Amino acid sequence: MKVLGIETSCDETGIAVYQGGRGLVAQAVYSQTDLHSAYGGVVPELASRDHVRKILPLIRQVLDEARLSSASIDGVAYTAGPGLIGALLVGAAVGRSLAWAWGVPALGVHHMEGHLLAPRLETPAPDFPFVALLVSGGHTQLVEVIGVGRYRMLGESVDDAAGEAFDKTAKLLDLRYPGGPNLARLAERGDPRRFRFPRPMTDRPGLDFSFSGLKTFTLHKLRDELPRAVDPDRTRADIARAFEEAVVDTLVIKCRRALRETGHRRLVLAGGVSANRRLRERMERVMTDEGSEVFYPRPALCTDNGAMVAYVGWLRLMAGQQEPLAIRPRARWSMLDLPPLP
Ligand code: ATP
Ligand code: MG
Ligand code: FE
Repeated sequence: MKVLGIETSCDETGIAVYQGGRGLVAQAVYSQTDLHSAYGGVVPELASRDHVRKILPLIRQVLDEARLSSASIDGVAYTAGPGLIGALLVGAAVGRSLAWAWGVPALGVHHMEGHLLAPRLETPAPDFPFVALLVSGGHTQLVEVIGVGRYRMLGESVDDAAGEAFDKTAKLLDLRYPGGPNLARLAERGDPRRFRFPRPMTDRPGLDFSFSGLKTFTLHKLRDELPRAVDPDRTRADIARAFEEAVVDTLVIKCRRALRETGHRRLVLAGGVSANRRLRERMERVMTDEGSEVFYPRPALCTDNGAMVAYVGWLRLMAGQQEPLAIRPRARWSMLDLPPLP
């Protein structure tokens, strides 16, 4: 079965084809970064319009590159939520219409389930069960994963998501949108010993996170240090490094705790922040010492993409799930409401 996947939940138009037995056949992502960077963040209405502009040419491009005709597609999966409602509507309307025109089943996919299962597109793929750390622009969650659709929430952020903290802190550092990767780049040049930031909520039991305090901490550090800095660029890099160290350390501490508490020996990292090099390295080192394995996808499958949507669509369509002609995009949608696969 060949499934066309469509991702439009935020500011990336992602298109891919996944085929059972073969894997990822083709994929393309168009990022709207340049469009939104002038505003310092995603402007929802502009995002919707740009998806409208890009979606059909990108679908054509992916099918052409894979030398596939539309007649060879057996199902269509589109992101139905969570995300920006206007952006979701574009992917859902186009995806559902194509499926109807082609006479194949369609399915609305949960964006975070896409992130969660994307590491299974890689070799070696993590077997179930595992603990997943979902770290993206809108979510920071620790999830126990028994199988597809069999999830238990172990902990989540009580305020900002890790990616959101990266982005907001990057703004304080005068870095361009998208802040996360730019902050990580600046931190490369920073000295990890000069400043030490707190590791929020690690001194008490539990698996929840809080990242908004780190952003405020950065603001105060910048106000204290920059006016009297001999080399302000150096100071900015050192602060970026201290921030990144604090986020990475906090995530590592909670992941280790989650593995110990559940007894699982596999940890999966997913979502945009899992592209962070230092996070991957530190996590791998610490968890290997603990006798556990760490899995994460290539960076292009960490951030938003169509491949994860095609893959989840394939899994669920194969299991017989599909949707009627009506589309039902949801800005908010809990992953715990998804039906388990047998
Ligand atoms: P969600 O998936 O929760 O709906 P989203 O789709 O906007 O949110 P993703 O596309 O998964 O999020 O990830 C984008 C986030 O990842 C941004 O916050 C970005 O700053 C962050 N990010 C990407 N690369 C890095 C990196 N190397 N270091 C730190 N953060 C990064
Ligand atoms: Mg994005
Ligand atoms: Fe995402």
